[in-house]
Parts: sequence; structure tokens; C-alpha cells
Amino acid sequence: MHIAIIGAGLAGLTCARQLQAQGNSVVVYEKSRAVSGRMSTRQNELGGFDHGAQYFTVASPTFKKAVTQWQKNGWVAPWTPRLVVLDHGATSAPSAAARRKQRWVAQPGMRALGVQLAQDLDIRSEQRVTRLERAGSQWLLSVASSTVAIDATAGPFDAVIVAVPADQAESLLQDVPALAAKAASARLSPCWTLMLGFDQPLGLDYDGAWVNNSRLGWIAQDASKPQRRPGEHWIAQASSAWSIEHLEDDPERAREKLLKAFHDATGTHVQPVFSAVHRWRYAQALHPLDVDCMWDKSLNLGACGDWFSAGLTGPGRIENSYLSATALATRVS
Ligand SMILES: Cc1cc2nc3c(=O)[nH]c(=O)nc-3n(C[C@H](O)[C@H](O)[C@H](O)COP(=O)(O)OP(=O)(O)OC[C@H]3O[C@@H](n4cnc5c(N)ncnc54)[C@H](O)[C@@H]3O)c2cc1C
Repeated sequence: MHIAIIGAGLAGLTCARQLQAQGNSVVVYEKSRAVSGRMSTRQNELGGFDHGAQYFTVASPTFKKAVTQWQKNGWVAPWTPRLVVLDHGATSAPSAAARRKQRWVAQPGMRALGVQLAQDLDIRSEQRVTRLERAGSQWLLSVASSTVAIDATAGPFDAVIVAVPADQAESLLQDVPALAAKAASARLSPCWTLMLGFDQPLGLDYDGAWVNNSRLGWIAQDASKPQRRPGEHWIAQASSAWSIEHLEDDPERAREKLLKAFHDATGTHVQPVFSAVHRWRYAQALHPLDVDCMWDKSLNLGACGDWFSAGLTGPGRIENSYLSATALATRVS
């Protein structure tokens, strides 16, 4: 089959590799310049900052097998940070369950995994799919790019896989109301993220912290991860509640507020030499759908990603994306 996949995050790339290995011809459309989606690393003069996903954990045998291979390839490595819980300057130990978890990161930055997985795939970057249209028993895509004034038509394709966050999937699936309604019920929460670089040590005796009773929910020393450039490079993620309330804030205002929260939480008052914010409109699926993917066999149309629970419980995450993508690829025949 000739298959279009929309989105080159972990889900889209995983599905594309599996479908290509099954003998299909696959084209992946990605609206950004770079692949890897929310497993992202922002480059600046200090090096890379993992400003999207921080790390991943492994629960299922299927994902374990993939991670073991990625480790052998040198694409991922364990991350064993010193972790604490912060609450108004007081420090306490995380729960035993949180301490026991093995955490993994891609190296030399989270984006690197997507870059590796994209090798040997036909990726059309900076191509945003705006519409899916039925043409007989096949599909045509409307594709927008910054270089062409009007949308181009791509296809025909025998099947289409939508591997984008639920909110964006809903609009692509609008002509198939049953699938669009399911996507609409799995909204993702936003996340404001602050990146900080310091030219002097902060003297903190931890690498990552969950932050309670703060605008922030999580902070991490990026340089404590394997193969990162040395330095005091911190990521501070706002809590879901704060990010929802301040979603439309001016970025400069959000930066100032989150920097103050970082100083309050850590008890340090060193000013950064670099600071920037990023607003993720769609960060994490707090209530993934109770199925592993969607596949309409009569239309050859499906969707996968972290907004499917794929057999795991709890909020959407990298493992869900992987499992959802492999489940969908298995169903497409
Ligand atoms: C701030 C933050 C922190 C996180 N922390 C963690 C963590 O610590 N651990 C964890 O496991 N997970 C974490 N996550 C979640 C994790 O990043 C995601 O679960 C996972 O990366 C989702 O992969 P995906 O392929 O399903 O979606 P995405 O990575 O979102 O990929 C979708 C891709 O589709 C593209 N796209 C969208 N619309 C279109 C279109 N119309 N046309 C073409 N392309 C399109 C996007 O540009 C994107 O590249 C975090 C996410 C964020 C944002």
C-alpha cells in the first residue's frame, strides 16, 4: 500500500518504520523543519536544552525490547539523576516508587532519537497537512508549505495515519465525525517551559525536582544527562494548572514569572546569562483514551499517539506513543 503518515514525532516515525518494514511505501508529512515532535532539543549558544519531554520510563515488554535495541545502537542511555521534592524551599525525598524508576534519555539530546528513527524514511518536512479528502477508495492530502502560496495536493494514498496531538487530529478528522469525536474527548494540557543558563554554579545538591505549591511542577539540570555539554543548564516546567491559566500570557511576562518561581523554589538568586520560554499548547494527555489506537478499516484511516493509553495507565507519555504506533501498524494490512 501507499501510505501517508501525518506527524514525524515518535508515534509517526515508529509507525512509518514498521509499515515500511512490512513492505509498504510510506511518506511522512511534518509541519516543522525538524523531526521528533515533543521529544525536542532547542539549540542555542550554550548547547542543547531538552525543552520538551524530559525522560522516559519503560513498563511493557514491547517497549523494553525497542529501548534495549536503541541502547545497543547508542541512541539512548539511562539517566540516574539525584531527585528531590521541593516545597517552599524545603527539600524532601520522593516516594520510594519514584526513586525506584529507571529513567532513560536520548543522547546527545532528546531530539536525537527522532533523528535516528527518521533515517531511511521519506520525510517531507515543513509540509503541514491541512485537509484529508476522499478520492474514490483513496485519499488526497492538502498540504501547506511556507514556500508555496496555495496548498498543494498530495496523493492519492491507499491509507492515511494521523500521528499528531489529539486537538490537531480532531481538525484533520473532521470529515469522519466518529473519529473526530474521539479525538475531541482526549484534549492535551499545555505547558510553559523555561530554559536557563548560568555562568556560575548554583550549588544545588540535586539534578531534578518535583516542585509543590509553586507555578512550577518540575525542574531539571539538563547537563546531568549523558553526553550533554557541561554547565548549569536548567529546564523549569510550569505546572499544568498555571500553564492553563496563563496560556495566552505574553512570553516575556511568563519568562519573568517562571524565573521568579525558579529562584523561590531553589532558594538561589543567581541571575541567568541565558533565559527563554517556550509555550507548548499541546504537551501531555492527562486522560488518554482507553484504546491503543483508532483504525477504520473501511476507510483505511487511523490515528495513534500518546493520547491513547495503549495498555498503560496514567497520563500520556513516550511509551504510550510507541505502543500506540506499533498497535496501529499491526492493524494496517
Ligand atoms: C513539556 C513537555 C514535557 C514532557 N515530558 C515528558 C516526560 O518527561 N516523559 C514522557 O514520557 N513524556 C513527556 N512528554 C510527552 C511526550 O513528549 C509525548 O508523549 C511524545 O513525545 C508524543 O509523541 P507523538 O509522536 O505522539 O506526538 P508529537 O511528538 O507531538 O508528534 C506530532 C508531530 O506532528 C506534527 N504535526 C502536527 N500537526 C501536523 C500537521 N497538520 N501536518 C504535519 N505535521 C503535523 C508536529 O509538528 C509533531 O512533530 C512531555 C511533553 C512536553 C511538551
